[in-house]
Amino acid sequence: MIRTKSEAAFERAQKVIPGGVNSPVRAYRGVGGNPPFIARGQGSHIFDIDGNEYIDYVGSWGPLLLGHCHPAIIDAVRQALDTGTSFGAPTEREIDLAERIRDAVPTMEMVRLVNSGTEATMSAIRVARGFTGRDLTVKFEGCYHGHVDSLLVKAGSGLATLGIADTQGVPKGFTDTTLPLPFNSVDAVEAAFRAHGDRIASVIVEPVVGNMGCVPPQPGFLEALREITARHGALLILDEVMTGFRVAYGGAQARFGIRPDMTTLGKVIGGGLPIGAYGGRADIMRSVAPVGPVYQAGTLSGNPLAVAAGLAMLRYLKAHPEVYRELETTSAAIAAAAPAGITVNRVGAMFTWFFTDQPVTDWDSAKRADTARFARFHRRMLEQGIYLPPSQFEAAFVSAAHTAEDIAKTAEAAKSAFDFTA
Ligand SMILES: *Cc1c(COP(=O)(O)O)cnc(C)c1O
Repeated sequence: MIRTKSEAAFERAQKVIPGGVNSPVRAYRGVGGNPPFIARGQGSHIFDIDGNEYIDYVGSWGPLLLGHCHPAIIDAVRQALDTGTSFGAPTEREIDLAERIRDAVPTMEMVRLVNSGTEATMSAIRVARGFTGRDLTVKFEGCYHGHVDSLLVKAGSGLATLGIADTQGVPKGFTDTTLPLPFNSVDAVEAAFRAHGDRIASVIVEPVVGNMGCVPPQPGFLEALREITARHGALLILDEVMTGFRVAYGGAQARFGIRPDMTTLGKVIGGGLPIGAYGGRADIMRSVAPVGPVYQAGTLSGNPLAVAAGLAMLRYLKAHPEVYRELETTSAAIAAAAPAGITVNRVGAMFTWFFTDQPVTDWDSAKRADTARFARFHRRMLEQGIYLPPSQFEAAFVSAAHTAEDIAKTAEAAKSAFDFTA
C-alpha cells in the first residue's frame, strides 16, 4: 500500500502541530509507522489522501454508531447550517435533545449539554463535590475520563498507549484528591471507603472500560459500587461517554440494571460533532448555576450543529431498535475471528483482541498483553485495508454500516495477520 501523500502530510504536520496530531493516540506511537491522513468516509469505510480504502473499526473513537456520512445525520446538519451556526442563546432543539436523553437514560432526570466528554466528567465531579461538600474522587486504574487534571491519574487511553503513568503539569494538590483503585476489585473499594468514607464525594467509573481495551465489569462489581456509595453518602457517576447509546440504547446502565446518581455522555450523542452531556438526579443537578452554587458554563454549549446531529442520531436509534440486535451479531462475528491464544473481550459493539491467553479483567492483566506483537498485527491489518485502533489499549468499534462482506474481509485479513505474527 502506497502512502507517500500521507507521509508528506505527516512531515508537514509535525512542524506546526505537536507530534503532527491533535490527540496523541492518532500519531501511531503505540504501533510504529505513520498514520494515514484521511480524506473522507462513507459507511463503514474510510479513504486516505493517497486513495487507499480501509474498513474502519475506529469510527472516530466511538461516535459513528451508524458509520460515516449517514444520510439522517448529514441532512440534519445541512438543515441546521442554513439557520446559523451558533447563538449563545437557548434554542428549542436543546430541550428536544435533553428530553430524548432523559427518555433513553431515565436516571438523567436533568441534563446539561457541554462540548466534549472531558467537559462532562470535569463538570460531573465538580457537581458531586459541591453537592456533597466533600473533596475526594475514587477512580479506577486504566479508566480514562478525558484529560481532566485530577482524573489523569493511572489513566487509560493515550497514557496507557504511551506508557505514561501520570502526566506532568498537574499540581500534586489536584491528584491528591484522587484515589485510584483496581477495576473490578470490590475489596479495594470497601477498603478505600473504610479509610476515607466521609471524605469521598464520588466514585467515577467506565461501566464497561474501553480505554484500556475493552474490559467488562465482573458480575456484582457495579452493584457493589452502587451499594457502597449509597451507604457512605457518596455519588456514583457512570462515565458513559463511550458506552452511552453504544452497548444499548440506554447505555451500560440499562444493560446491567444499575441506577447511578449521575451520568456523563459524549461521542454517540453528537453523531460525530463535538458534544458532551452530564446529568443525573434532579436534586443534584439543581446545584448547577444559575439555579445552584456550582459554576459551569460554555460559549458553544448546546451548539446548533452538534445538537442537530445528536438529535438525528437519537431519533434514528429510537426508531430503529433493531440496530442494537444487528450490532450484537456483527460485532460478535468480527470478534470471533481471533484464534485460540488471544483473549477476546466484547460487550455489544465494542471489543478488543488482547494478545495474551490470560483473562483481562483490570489494568494489571491488560498490561500483560504482548504489545510488540499487537503492533506487528496492527501494521499487517492496515496493509490489508483494515483500520483498527492503533493501540492494544483502545477498544475497536463496530457500526451499523458494517456489512457481511466487511466481516468476511476482516476475518480473512485477521487470519493471515494472526498467523503472520504468531
Ligand atoms: C472519550 C472518553 C472521554 C473523553 O471524551 P472527549 O470528548 O475526548 O473529551 C471521557 N470518558 C470516556 C469513558 C471516554 O471514552
